[in-house]
Amino acid sequence: MSSKFNRPSTSSMDEHFSSLEDSEIFLRKRYRDHSPDDSLEAGELSDALSDDEDVPGCPLPSTPEDNELLEAEMTEVLKAGVLSDEIDLGALAHNAAEQAEVFVRKVWEASWKVVHFKHLPKWLQDNDYLHKGHRPPLQSFGACFKSIFRLHTETGNIWTHLLGCIMFIGAAIYFLIRPSWEVNWEEKMIFSAFFLGAILCLGFSFAFHTVSCHSEVIGKLFSKLDYCGIAMLIMGSFVPWLYYGFYCHYRHKIIYLSVVTVLGFFSIVTSLWDKFSTPQLRPVRAGVFMAFGLSGVIPAFHYVYMEGWFNDISRASLGWLVLMGLLYILGAMFYALRIPERWFPGKFDLWGQSHQIFHILVIVAALVHFHGISEMAMNRVSLGECDVRHASIVL
Ligand SMILES: [Zn+2]
Repeated sequence: MSSKFNRPSTSSMDEHFSSLEDSEIFLRKRYRDHSPDDSLEAGELSDALSDDEDVPGCPLPSTPEDNELLEAEMTEVLKAGVLSDEIDLGALAHNAAEQAEVFVRKVWEASWKVVHFKHLPKWLQDNDYLHKGHRPPLQSFGACFKSIFRLHTETGNIWTHLLGCIMFIGAAIYFLIRPSWEVNWEEKMIFSAFFLGAILCLGFSFAFHTVSCHSEVIGKLFSKLDYCGIAMLIMGSFVPWLYYGFYCHYRHKIIYLSVVTVLGFFSIVTSLWDKFSTPQLRPVRAGVFMAFGLSGVIPAFHYVYMEGWFNDISRASLGWLVLMGLLYILGAMFYALRIPERWFPGKFDLWGQSHQIFHILVIVAALVHFHGISEMAMNRVSLGECDVRHASIVL
């Protein structure tokens, strides 16, 4: 059909024609007015129009009949939907309310501002020497983890132990994939105890400082994990030292390892006690872990008594052990006494606060210990296997 006889499709046309007859009259008129010379005859036009009417399929959507048809169809579909429970209006309303809530929460979470210590809820008030820059409660894990990239009182604590944790994971992988002629499986097992302790301690600490502002329940749960992590690091540090220090003294080795396990278990149980994490018990916490760590003095003196202090191997093993002990004690003192913010309240809110110093000293102490036990392991290799006669006397 010629393009001249295409059906009118604008909305203005819709308004003018209320029926097919009207549109036929219009087309006939238009044909007479504008196409007198057109070769198409009136009869052909009638044929064309009747052809159009006979064409099967959807009527063009711009005609008034189409709108009515569509409306009728939509009503039928909705009716059927409601009747057959396919469209649950109650659920739709509930979903809309939920989506609005999620939206409002996301907007708030993205736009939270740090607050002053006195505006924190009681359960988040830990160190009153840190005045400004505290995170408000963030009731979603997503928001807590996003806060890693914002500046507040916990940013330094989070990153020190996150980076420390990644460093020890890397060191553990490097050590464990050494070929067996370089490091045998038994040594790998012994060192794994230390790596596991260090990774768990730093990992739990990172997690605690990240989600501590989530809610009171989550904060308490993760603070317990944080303390358990410290107990595991101390236990894990003892294992290689006792293993190499008492390499040929099997009975002592077993006794000391058992005592360390019992003390570690006791520290973990104490950590799980609800009141243990309260600010009032901060010195008690420092005391428990210091006592556990210092219990290493007993096997160390025993070692000196057996091997003597004045030889290179003893000095290497004990020198690093003493340095590690001093670093931990120093860290625990910073932690318990809250130095330097105690002397300059509000001046170390974001950087340089006692907890960050404590975190860094823990990492340095763990690295010192790793170096110490690596030296002990190398010395052991240079000494060769145990003297059976000597070992049997000790047993
Ligand atoms: Zn911490």
